[in-house]
Amino acid sequence: MRYVSTRGQAPVRDFSEVLLAGLAEDGGLYLPETWPVLSADDWRALRGLSYPELAARIIGPFAAGSIAPETLRRLCHEAYAGFDHAAIVPLVQVEDGLFVQELFHGPTLAFKDMAMQLLGRLFDHVLAERDAHVTIVGATSGDTGSAAIEACRGRTRVKTVILHPEGRTSDVQRRQMTTVLEPNVTNLAVQGTFDDCQDLVKGMFADAPFRQEMRLSAVNSINWARIAAQVPYYVYAALALGAPDRAVAFAVPTGNFGNILAAWAARRMGLPVRALCVGSNRNDILTRFLRGNDMSVQGVVPSLSPSMDIQVSSNFERLLFELLDRDAASCARIMTDFRRTGRMAVPDATWRRAAELFHALALDDEATKTEIRKLYAQSGYLADPHSAIGIAAGRMFREPGIPMVAMATAHPAKFPDAMEAAIGIRPALPPRLADLFDRPERYEVVAARLDAVEDRVRAAVLKNA
Ligand SMILES: *Cc1c(COP(=O)(O)O)cnc(C)c1O
Repeated sequence: MRYVSTRGQAPVRDFSEVLLAGLAEDGGLYLPETWPVLSADDWRALRGLSYPELAARIIGPFAAGSIAPETLRRLCHEAYAGFDHAAIVPLVQVEDGLFVQELFHGPTLAFKDMAMQLLGRLFDHVLAERDAHVTIVGATSGDTGSAAIEACRGRTRVKTVILHPEGRTSDVQRRQMTTVLEPNVTNLAVQGTFDDCQDLVKGMFADAPFRQEMRLSAVNSINWARIAAQVPYYVYAALALGAPDRAVAFAVPTGNFGNILAAWAARRMGLPVRALCVGSNRNDILTRFLRGNDMSVQGVVPSLSPSMDIQVSSNFERLLFELLDRDAASCARIMTDFRRTGRMAVPDATWRRAAELFHALALDDEATKTEIRKLYAQSGYLADPHSAIGIAAGRMFREPGIPMVAMATAHPAKFPDAMEAAIGIRPALPPRLADLFDRPERYEVVAARLDAVEDRVRAAVLKNA
């Protein structure tokens, strides 16, 4: 499988190259040159497979020519072996016609593990083949950093340096990162905000000599392999609920548009998906777009669902490229203008194509707590604030006869304060993390200055090189 950039000015690459490159040089995002499409019989033949087997079969065409099928199978089995639910991605019915798919049974209790556990292993495999090493740097406000650290801990070819804003992540989130003591993992607590952390990471990537010297790489949500690794659970849910002989619909609490783009990809591959529902919090740029073609950047307001507190959904560019019938020049122009003006000028006909398939609902913090209470009172289900927003969107747009599956993206124990505010209960951490608050932490505090951060990264990379 070959990959093209949404802006049309970067080299065509294969799966392994796209995995290591992340973003394309022209500022675009990589997409497969052609989509694999399965027939109804092909889908039926996948029924009843275990999750790792299904994942290997669905990801297989995307990795064709780069990763041997037996290797991919082994990596999928290893990636999901550490999940603490036998079904990996269990479905729970909460109401008539409304299902929740739990994506939080991995090591860091959030859905980022679904892709990251496989990505860490793919990196190791591809780097070993090339006898190469990389340094993954990333900024996190919570879930991405811990998922990346868990996925890369102890992998000798991958040094991992994660920046978090000092004192501005939750205690659970910080400890999930800072209690990982493997020598290839470095946590930097930056004296600044999450935006400062992101700017520092961008600054390191823009410093070409430093980037080369440190062999910087990224595992952020624009990496195509992450999207590919998120397609299988949509297939798993749809097959369990009767696809391809019955259509399903999905609802997804959305930030960077990565998770829901994977649902779109499953549909593009021929899975019968009737509707895709976006849930947002008060940072509702996607909801404003889908409801009225208003994609305009406003300031970020903190919410109870911090992993969705974002201004710009970077993966939206992939959908835009497809809605424009892969017209890379138009896509590049729209994205460049958006960056300059803060408002995306999507042609009306293009917007209509999106609005026919996607629905959207935004909940503020009060409405989120009300939804958490309602779910708990009516079905005894404990949904974290992100998941509750997805479930509310699913209920809102449910159609008779079409099962609606809402993605639960975090374990409620990750957000004990929000849960307590909503229902007076602080959910317990699962056994594997029960001693999280007794484990020793290690991190370095660093000023929000590029030279200071680059010095720390260099020291981390040279240490037991
Ligand atoms: C990252 C994250 C999201 C948003 O997912 P996107 O792929 O960025 O849309 C939602 N919920 C949780 C808990 C997350 O960690």
